Amino acid sequence: MKRNILLNPGPATTTDTVKQAQVVPDICPREKEFGQVMENISAGLLKIVHADQKKYAAVLFCGSGTLCMDVCVNSLVPQEKKILFVNNGAYSARAVDIAKAYGLDYIDLAFPVDGLPDLDAVEAALAADENIAVVYTTHQETGTGILNPIREIGALAHKHGAVFVVDTTSTLAMLPIDIEQENIDFCMASAQKGIQAMTGLSFVIGRTDIIEASKDYPLRSYYCNLFMQYDYFRQNGQMHFTPPVQTIYSVQQALQEYFAEGEQAKWQRHQAAMAEVHAELKKMGFREVIPREIQSGLVVAVAYPETANWDFDRVHDYCYEKGFTIYPGKMQNKGTFRLCVLGAINAEDIKAFFNVFRQACSIENENL
Ligand SMILES: *Cc1c(COP(=O)(O)O)cnc(C)c1O
Repeated sequence: MKRNILLNPGPATTTDTVKQAQVVPDICPREKEFGQVMENISAGLLKIVHADQKKYAAVLFCGSGTLCMDVCVNSLVPQEKKILFVNNGAYSARAVDIAKAYGLDYIDLAFPVDGLPDLDAVEAALAADENIAVVYTTHQETGTGILNPIREIGALAHKHGAVFVVDTTSTLAMLPIDIEQENIDFCMASAQKGIQAMTGLSFVIGRTDIIEASKDYPLRSYYCNLFMQYDYFRQNGQMHFTPPVQTIYSVQQALQEYFAEGEQAKWQRHQAAMAEVHAELKKMGFREVIPREIQSGLVVAVAYPETANWDFDRVHDYCYEKGFTIYPGKMQNKGTFRLCVLGAINAEDIKAFFNVFRQACSIENENL
């Protein structure tokens, strides 16, 4: 099969073995055999974030990653309580939109998208309002590649008695995460990112005692309620509604490959790929828009060259023809593109990409 190198922020490049794992005999997902596959996947996901099986549960949903943002926002806020968003980017802003859509009482603590949130301001917001029951933020703001200080934000949330929810969609299974050490009560991700499987399965990992307490919170969604999904699986060993069957087989295979590679080795592979990205960008004279110290090491936002007659779409199309996908930026001030190293790719693939990218850019210069 043709191997495409995806440098977009997910879905990511997958191995052929993961792709082929989807081709299985037809099965009704209500069979015990299939329930067992989902049980194994849940256990694997807990293991990825070093979660204690007695304290945490992994709850599977059929949908893209945004579904889990929706689930956490709509399911975890008690009656008459508020959710505080620590918002320095497009993904936290999306979570704010979800709260708005549900008519929740929320505080949007917004910071500039090119820097870290101010922890004193977070503390002050928590101290000023005892009705804040949930603090929500994004681990890596995938639009900029900024890595947020979740351990510190989580400590502040806990100090003020709030539940801490983190969108880890673009870090989980890439950057090592220890759920308790990072003060996370709930995190989430999607099968097509760090675990390098197919689209269609997403999951929330969180504290069982809080999920159980949320049974008594207002039911704001029928399809996307955390307690209902958790409880149905616990009682029946099945997902409440039809799961993405073939994707789930790809996830089973992807988790085997994840554990075979190992947490540290995988993180080193991503870092080696990103080191190559940094080096090549520098050689070519491109400017990264976020300071290196606050980058995740998985996504880099790059400014368009200032002088050249540079057309992102033309560069994209040239690279795409040759099997490499680059992605536009997601910052308010336009003029950035992104290179992401999420999937089953390595430093050699990045070298190969830059050979093509260099050709595309030199054609742009000739157009001048
Ligand atoms: C990719 C991503 C999501 C989910 O996006 P979908 O398109 O719904 O899969 C959510 N949060 C972050 C931080 C992401 O990077």
